[in-house]
Parts: sequence; structure tokens; C-alpha cells
Amino acid sequence: MNMNKPLFIGHGSPMNAIADNRYARFLRAYGQSIRKPEAIVVVSAHWLTKGTYITGGEHPEQIYDFWGFPDELYTVRYAPKGAPEIAREIERAGIGVAVDAHRGVDHAGWAVVKHMYPDQDVPLLQISLDVDKDIREHFALGAALSPFSGKGILFIGSGNMIHNLRVIDFDEDAKPFDWAARADAWVKERLENTEIDALLDYTEAMPDYKLSVPTDEHYLPLAYILGMKGPGQGISTIYEEIQNGSVSMRSIEIA
Ligand code: ZN
Repeated sequence: MNMNKPLFIGHGSPMNAIADNRYARFLRAYGQSIRKPEAIVVVSAHWLTKGTYITGGEHPEQIYDFWGFPDELYTVRYAPKGAPEIAREIERAGIGVAVDAHRGVDHAGWAVVKHMYPDQDVPLLQISLDVDKDIREHFALGAALSPFSGKGILFIGSGNMIHNLRVIDFDEDAKPFDWAARADAWVKERLENTEIDALLDYTEAMPDYKLSVPTDEHYLPLAYILGMKGPGQGISTIYEEIQNGSVSMRSIEIA
């Protein structure tokens, strides 16, 4: 039984970390609306590895893994403690996740969780994306991790379902590109109808997927969260917006 509903959260531009926009207010309200988890484990679009790792440090450092943004963004301090015992427990489960005791938490983790738990009172861990896995292997690993959400862990897949930085509009409120809106609508409908296979095989049917998902690292965290869906559970959209013309902030919970 899931006590903490697994989430996929669109994280978008790092600027969202310091924004007071509709998205930030949604995250704050959402964090306040759910039972406080024992720990948060974020599957990060920004940590690509060979093999799968989980942060295992007592105090993982905050990583500023972006360049060329305003100074203000680099002065944000958000570094909750880790939870080495949880990392080791997941490693010991024998599902192919190894502890990395030294890696910190990148902005796929802290920029999102900062809004949900501004007091830094929930331990924050991250899981990497194994570049050698295909999407169904990522999905299967999500399923293998799901028993831990019954132990008070909140899993967050942090990426973006539609994400193209080459054609980004720096205006956050820019009108969505037509292809981005079409692809996002396709994803929305698949989620509403719980069409997991279609979502995993998005390259077969998503309109304009080469523009909308030009690389898959921001899409793959979704596969983990879909893999955590138990029988009889559904998928609910909890936030939708297209920022910067080409970045879907669509976010879901499994319940
Ligand atoms: Zn990102």
C-alpha cells in the first residue's frame, strides 16, 4: 500500500527555484496538503550514470548544475540532510541500485523540493538514470522501488515530459509552440486513459516527438513513476503549464 503517492514533477528552468509564480505556489500548497514523508527520493534527469546510484551521504552538497543564470540563483541555499540508512536499505534490496556516498543533489531535486519543504526538514536523496537501460528497464526499476513508498518515502520523478532547450523562449510565459502543445496534449490524454504502453513507446505515436523529446533524460523519470502504479491505482494530473514555449511542467500523482 502506498502511503506516499509517487509524483512526477516537471521542473523546467532553474529560475523556477527562485520564482514566485503559479508553479511555485502550486508546489508549496501541494507540499502542505500531503502527509510529511520520512524522506524524499528524487529520480533526477540531471544525474546520468552507468549503473544506477542513490546518494548515500549524511549531508549531500547542493549542486548548482547550470550555467549563465543570474547570481541570485547561485546564492540559494537548500541542502537538507541525507538519509544514509535509507540509501543502504535500498541498496540491500538487491534491485540494482548502489550507494554513492559522495554525490550531492542537483537542481532536479533541490529546486523542486525547496518549494514543498522550505524548512529543509525532510531528508532528500537522489537516484541516477542508468544510460544503458532502455525505458522498460527504467519502468521495471520503478516497480521494484515502489515497496519503499509504503515505508514513508516520497518518490519524485523530476524531469519534463516535453522539453526542448534548443528552441527555448526565455520568456517564461511565451505562447507554447504548436508542436509542444500537440505533444503535451497527447501525453495528457494517454495519462488520463492510463495508457502506460503508449507512454513508454512514445516514439511510435507521440506527435512531433523528435522536437518534444529530442533527448530522453527528462522523460525517463516518468517511467519510474508509472512503474510504481499499483493495480487499481490511477494517474491524476496535479499541474499543467507549458513554460518557455517548449517545456511542459505537467505533473502527476499516482493514487
Ligand atoms: Zn532539467
